[in-house]
Amino acid sequence: MTNCLFCKIVNKESPAEIVYENDKIVAFKDTHPQAPLHLLIVPRKHIPSVEHLEIEDKELIGELFLVAQRITREQGVAKTGYKLVFNVGKGGGQIIEHLHLHLLGGWGSEKERDIPGMP
Ligand SMILES: [Zn+2]
Repeated sequence: MTNCLFCKIVNKESPAEIVYENDKIVAFKDTHPQAPLHLLIVPRKHIPSVEHLEIEDKELIGELFLVAQRITREQGVAKTGYKLVFNVGKGGGQIIEHLHLHLLGGWGSEKERDIPGMP
């Protein structure tokens, strides 16, 4: 899709702070973060939303979650916990019509928990 923002990011035609990429998936920072760590994990393939998934996308969607898991370990939020969210359609709060998994975390990080005088 030529006028899709996420296709442009995936193709490096639009800037984004990419934290991970492989041949099928790209992950980058959300420009309006809702959490200390807020990333968007998107397939390179243009799929408008979860509503548009086909049986052939089965592996791709599985890999999206495995990439999410890998990133949470790399970013140090795996142990403190995180949220993985798909917004679907306008009523579901989806703004960009290119399927993306929100990874939100970073609350209660070790730094925040490190209160002076506490064990
Ligand atoms: Zn797209």
